[in-house]
Amino acid sequence: METLALREESARLLGYPTYAAYRLEDSMAKTPEAVRGLLERVWKPARGRALADRDELQALIGEEGGNFALAPWDWRYYAEKLRQRRANFDDAAIKPYLSLDHMVEAAFDCATRLFGITFSERSDIPLWHPDVRVWEVKDASGRHQALFYGDYFARTSKRSGAWMTSLRDQQKLDGEVTPLIINVCNFTKGADGEPSLLSPDDARTLFHEFGHALHGMLSNVTYPSLSGTSVFTDFVELPSQLYEHWQEQPEVLQRFARHYQTGEVLPEDLLKRFLAARKFNQGFATVEFVSSALLDLEFHSRPAAEIGDIDGFERAQLKGIGMPEEIALRHRPTQFGHVFAGDYYAAGYYSYMWSEVMDADAFGAFEEAGNIFDPTVARRLRDDIYSTGGSVDPEDAYVAFRGREPEPDALLRRRGLLEEPKAA
Ligand SMILES: [Zn+2]
Repeated sequence: METLALREESARLLGYPTYAAYRLEDSMAKTPEAVRGLLERVWKPARGRALADRDELQALIGEEGGNFALAPWDWRYYAEKLRQRRANFDDAAIKPYLSLDHMVEAAFDCATRLFGITFSERSDIPLWHPDVRVWEVKDASGRHQALFYGDYFARTSKRSGAWMTSLRDQQKLDGEVTPLIINVCNFTKGADGEPSLLSPDDARTLFHEFGHALHGMLSNVTYPSLSGTSVFTDFVELPSQLYEHWQEQPEVLQRFARHYQTGEVLPEDLLKRFLAARKFNQGFATVEFVSSALLDLEFHSRPAAEIGDIDGFERAQLKGIGMPEEIALRHRPTQFGHVFAGDYYAAGYYSYMWSEVMDADAFGAFEEAGNIFDPTVARRLRDDIYSTGGSVDPEDAYVAFRGREPEPDALLRRRGLLEEPKAA
């Protein structure tokens, strides 16, 4: 409560009616109304899908002879059972086809086909650990563009997670400075000379971080403060999340997902089940996320004095949006670290979904062109998104690329939420 009151006071001192209004001015969304509009558009179909899934999970409990109502703590357990039954897919089946080397090759190849850049490994550059690899990146005319470092394996001195960072950012303020970009991951190293095999999530992470890396490597700005990923919070995940799309394209998987022992290409049937499994339980995932994002927004756009009791406010808000009782919030207010452990995501938790709307919509430009490497679309993507850093207003950059504002339909389709659910 005190945090909310102080945030409100700081916003008012600067002349803003609410903290959300203050915080969102430096964002692509710009206003609390725009954020609410987006979240509400996604909420309705997601809730419909989640309620239909709830009925199926309840039926499954009944089938197994269970005589109880589905509760939030049951959801993941029964959802996994239903997933196994529906998609008949287990991550372990696909791992032998997703070796780290093949997936790195795939990520590089997509960048070559989209942006004309090439990668050649260098062995003459000093590195901080024997597992780290470094590649020289050249542009289509063979000119030096960047160095890319891959530090992929877990070790005790590393913190967990995966991220992109830089040793040096691109800039031209005082002569041409080319970027030195790093991807750090925590993949498991293969035992005794065996290759490292990635789970589908790992492979997606690899492409995600490589998307951030491209944002740094393709940067073409004058000022270091505007270089690469120095963009608004709700725009920074666009280049990374967009790049994930190529990882799940049959055209890419059929070429690079080869069995690490036999070299056999990923079988068609396994590929289909893998892609179907990705859409599973998306009603739940979306409801879980959007409810927390809406709550974050409401906390920061109502006068703190009106909120009063946090639990009571939470209950009233959830009732107002029709939160399914069988789904728990992804973050209850008292453990909502994104929003209350610091200011970075306060009134900004929606950013993840905002970026996802854009990445799905942006990839749609390639789908509409009928070619996931369409050269005209790829050129615009490079010129308007990956190379501009913070030098262009993100909305203008997006409209320049896509010819219009982002629309959430592509996201809903990708999450399988546009088809009408069987029950309401
Ligand atoms: Zn990211």
